[in-house]
Amino acid sequence: MYNSTRNQSLMVSASAAILKGLADDGGLFVSKKLPNLNADLERLIHLDYQSLAVEILSLFLNDFRKEEIAECVANGYSKFRSDPPLKVQKLGNDIVLELFHGQTLAFKDMALSVLPSLLVKSLEKQNVQEDLLILTATSGDTGSAALSGIKDTKRLKAAAFFPDGAVSEIQKRQMLRESSANTTCYALKGNFDDCQRAVKGLFKDERFIEDIDARGYRLSTANSINIARLLLQIVYYFYVYGEAVRNKTIKFYEKLNVVVPSGNFGNILAAYYAKKMGLPLNKLICASNQNKVLTDFFNSGVYDIKREFKLSISPSMDILIASNLERLLYHISSDSELVKDLMEDLSTTGEFVLPERLRRKLRDFEAYSLSESETLATIKKVQAEYGYIFDTHSAVAWGALESYKNEQNDSTPSVVVSTASPYKFAPAVLEALGENVSGDLTKDLETLAQINRQELPAVIRELLVENKKEQVIESSEIQSVINAFCSGSHNEA
Ligand SMILES: *Cc1c(COP(=O)(O)O)cnc(C)c1O
Repeated sequence: MYNSTRNQSLMVSASAAILKGLADDGGLFVSKKLPNLNADLERLIHLDYQSLAVEILSLFLNDFRKEEIAECVANGYSKFRSDPPLKVQKLGNDIVLELFHGQTLAFKDMALSVLPSLLVKSLEKQNVQEDLLILTATSGDTGSAALSGIKDTKRLKAAAFFPDGAVSEIQKRQMLRESSANTTCYALKGNFDDCQRAVKGLFKDERFIEDIDARGYRLSTANSINIARLLLQIVYYFYVYGEAVRNKTIKFYEKLNVVVPSGNFGNILAAYYAKKMGLPLNKLICASNQNKVLTDFFNSGVYDIKREFKLSISPSMDILIASNLERLLYHISSDSELVKDLMEDLSTTGEFVLPERLRRKLRDFEAYSLSESETLATIKKVQAEYGYIFDTHSAVAWGALESYKNEQNDSTPSVVVSTASPYKFAPAVLEALGENVSGDLTKDLETLAQINRQELPAVIRELLVENKKEQVIESSEIQSVINAFCSGSHNEA
């Protein structure tokens, strides 16, 4: 069962938690108890990826049958061009865990390719008659991954809204490419905040909700706080541990550090869950870009968002409110009243202070941040040393690991989580490598592929051929475009 981080006694089943996303009191759903897999570890880590995913999810999804979970997992990962859906590279004594081999070349595909099937099953289990209309404001990665996962899924429709002119050319093309009968996207005039405001406004607009309901839809969001996304992310930490044993980086039962480029704190929280479930992990190293709220929190116990928001070359980590940190606060305190108070402090004063007695519970974590120039220098250095090219997000993780090694005497091998393909952020990567950036997408991507001594990935090549034009709308038009989108499908059905 799942309870809200802000109210221990508010409990729901797995399918209800997946469908709701957010608890009614504004808290996030957490599992009452984490299973311990210690006794079964040696068998689990040698399973193939999908079987491992089914075993782990079965421990959490109390009202799903194993065969149902297997169907959702198989369906989701069939969209990947590689099996397993990830790759592992060895750099020196450490391991790079590449999680970007899905349709949109970023790690969000790992969870968002499976989530739609779980949502559909949850609709059935909760006896919901309406279909789901998933609306999302996006600065790039979440929108494309959500559309890609939802495309062609019965009972789900999705629309993504992105700021006109403010997402990368590749991200825009990806969203347009993933548009279909049941998925769509719009460029909204304004910045990301305007998009978010317009979408959030819809969830509070009773007349709009009635209109949508009359068309047979219930509103939902593809936000990053759905518990199912976290559960799906636990799997790859178990899997990479098995890989580290198989490629002799460690012996079975030796420990690994994990380094995660973090924004909303979801990916690294899944690593924390894996550790609590008995996976032999040593330090969880939280890597941030220049928006280093998390670094400051782990080093001082104060979470302070009263600071300038900076746009960086690792935009998917440009976040001041790391939503999933609320879950960590709950797990280290087991005190939903405290979590509620801290969240209240954050929204009224712009900061919260972790009680001193809980500081030592953060010892699983280390935190480091990189400036923009350090990030660029890291890409250059790793390419020179190993011939390996990181994207701008993953480079932040590698740089954080180097800082950790310089400061602390720890020879534990580390897994550096790589969250995006370098091709997705080609201009910044080329700049880091000291190459000329032409501004012509095709040319820049080909230059990068050449330096990387690789063929351009097929998903990227397809984006270069197809070039649909985006629809640009004013935020005042958002209701009418959604209404039109919903009636369209109604006729089709
Ligand atoms: C979303 C994202 C992140 C941040 O992950 P969180 O789970 O939000 O901490 C890092 N890198 C890339 C490329 C992403 O898309």
